Amino acid sequence: MRTGFYPGSFDPVTFGHLDIIARAARVVDKLVLGVGTHASKQALLDPDHRIALLEAVTRPLAEHSGLKISIATFDGLAVDAARRHHAGVIIRGLRDATDFDYEVQMGQMNGAMAPDIETVFLAASPATRMIASSLVKQIARMGGDISLFVPPEAQAAIAAALKPTH
Ligand code: ADP
Repeated sequence: MRTGFYPGSFDPVTFGHLDIIARAARVVDKLVLGVGTHASKQALLDPDHRIALLEAVTRPLAEHSGLKISIATFDGLAVDAARRHHAGVIIRGLRDATDFDYEVQMGQMNGAMAPDIETVFLAASPATRMIASSLVKQIARMGGDISLFVPPEAQAAIAAALKPTH
């Protein structure tokens, strides 16, 4: 039984994340989705909301692929969280050269701190490689249609979070 840890902000979960999760099912038997709650990263959706969304949108994928999925928050090092969840593999997605430079460097520093944990990089699929949560939020703020980029549940959550309260 191989367990993977996929850390991210998931603010909100996108079709890009879902593509990586679906493909991680070919690499690991169980995948822990680590929802980062680091104070330095200002998120639009609170962690409970991000977890509920991930639960809802990954359920069909888990049923279809047989991948066991669990979801947890973390606010320290990804390697520490991976270890806590008995994961031998950290999963990361690579979209472009910017991701590559940053992710490989981080993977190597994580490897130095935790040689027993291997980072596995999955190249983004062509149909979803342009999607970034930060741009999804910007588009939504400007009234754009984000249904191409995120599942309906996430679209509704973003719309609600951006709704003026007065
Ligand atoms: P972070 O705040 O670390 O960027 P994200 O939630 O944006 O967290 O992303 C988490 C992981 O998912 C990262 O490895 C990122 O490269 C990957 N990822 C994000 N969007 C995509 C996408 N469209 N295709 C493939 N991988 C992606």
